[in-house]
Amino acid sequence: MVQGAANWNTELTEEWLQNYVDDWVAFYRKMTSDGKVASYIPILEEANQNHLGITIMGNNGMTIRSGDTDIPFTIQSISKVISFIVGCMERGVQYMLDRVDVEPTGEAFNSIMHLEMKQLKKPFNPFINAGAITVTSMLEGNTSDEKLKPIIDLMERMFGYRPALNVDVYESERDSSMRNRAIGYYLLETGFLESDMNITLETYFKQCSIEITIDDLAKFGMILANDGEDPNSQEEIIPRPIARIAKALMLTCGMYDASGKFATYVGIPAKSGVSGGIIAVSPPRVREEELPFLDGCGIGVYGPALDEQGNSEAGIRLLRHIAKQWDLSIF
Ligand code: GLU
Repeated sequence: MVQGAANWNTELTEEWLQNYVDDWVAFYRKMTSDGKVASYIPILEEANQNHLGITIMGNNGMTIRSGDTDIPFTIQSISKVISFIVGCMERGVQYMLDRVDVEPTGEAFNSIMHLEMKQLKKPFNPFINAGAITVTSMLEGNTSDEKLKPIIDLMERMFGYRPALNVDVYESERDSSMRNRAIGYYLLETGFLESDMNITLETYFKQCSIEITIDDLAKFGMILANDGEDPNSQEEIIPRPIARIAKALMLTCGMYDASGKFATYVGIPAKSGVSGGIIAVSPPRVREEELPFLDGCGIGVYGPALDEQGNSEAGIRLLRHIAKQWDLSIF
């Protein structure tokens, strides 16, 4: 049985919280069997359906890690948050927002329907594939490696090491990319792309294939929770206005076409990817009672078995439970 609400007033030690989170992970791990590992990129199907892990990194220096925390996986769509941030840092926020909108679609991440039906002046948002590929086309550089470099540089500053590409995933993704190529051709025809289509797509496949762990996601989340500043070094990693837009987009568009439900039931900015990762951001909150991580925290979750919307089946339920127990909602 999953434990109920504790009296957080008296029991905020790391050990106590760790016991709770271990218990919750064990409980929600059973629900991994309700989901399905992604298969449209063939190599992703090799992931272990039963994996579930979480890292919670607080601005107060406390870290809770539980379950399968050390499994490397590819960042996939969570890279869209980073490429958008890099684009804003390189070109300026206004330049980016003039070319990609900030509206949720309610459609699948790789849908072309809206582009075609509504004769848009720009893609709906940077987290659907059409918007993300447009963002990648705006990154500086003439080759995919030049465009990729600032993305990896930013990750290195956040994670404390330089992440690498998973070449097998990159090749699998590139070789099964018919739909993304269709989106690429559509964007080319409408004039949205600002770089060569093939170089843009190559960069996009590479950025999705960068290998990370949930500790990295938790760190990135912690920096976003702290408005772009690393609470350990007090260094500004992401300018505050850009960190804020990224969080707004995560809240409204981060969880595919379940973003509205996630905002309602969990209530914190988050972004997921098809490999089963989720980054979630709990900004500092004001409450009358003592609660865990009141100064804010970043959360990384990995659970490759996905629900129908493409979000980690057990991961979402685990996050929902923790958000309720600890009153994480920003509302
Ligand atoms: N590389 C994947 C694609 O574009 C990313 C999708 C995702 O994680 O949502 O199909």
